[in-house]
Amino acid sequence: MIQAIFFDRDGVLNEEVGYLYEVEKFKWIDGAHDAIKFCNERGILTIVVTNQSGIARGLYTAKEVEILHEFMQKSLLEVGAHIDAFYYCPHHPNFSGECDCRKPKPGMILQACQEFNINPAQSILFGDSERDIEAAKAAGLRDGIFFTGGNLLEAVKVHCTEGDS
Ligand SMILES: [Mg+2]
Ligand SMILES: [Zn+2]
Repeated sequence: MIQAIFFDRDGVLNEEVGYLYEVEKFKWIDGAHDAIKFCNERGILTIVVTNQSGIARGLYTAKEVEILHEFMQKSLLEVGAHIDAFYYCPHHPNFSGECDCRKPKPGMILQACQEFNINPAQSILFGDSERDIEAAKAAGLRDGIFFTGGNLLEAVKVHCTEGDS
């Protein structure tokens, strides 16, 4: 049984466009709404963990990131789906110094596990970069899965239905 699914944001839930913060540039990945809804209906927590060094670089503000996340949540609510929590790392070592949250470090995942009482060994992550997969490993998640395109619902289904029967 899977307790929580961690999703990287850019490149997994939405198209990667580089330092995204504008709602107008936001485009959902195919199957993203349905993937989140699929999890909601099965009681699987959905948690976003995203590096947002654009904040440290002064390209956009934390407030703008939060507005974008509210927009995502509203869009999901329209189809009866929701993300349980968003965690973002605003840092970059060259601009703000080292931190414990920027992936490949596991800080955001560990914080979520603590706040939601999640067992990492019963949870998985979908990411599109090596950093995501390393963070999943470092946090002790059951699996870090590369998602490099296609339909997110199909990808989630593959990993949530195995061993169910
Ligand atoms: Mg990504
Ligand atoms: Zn950080």
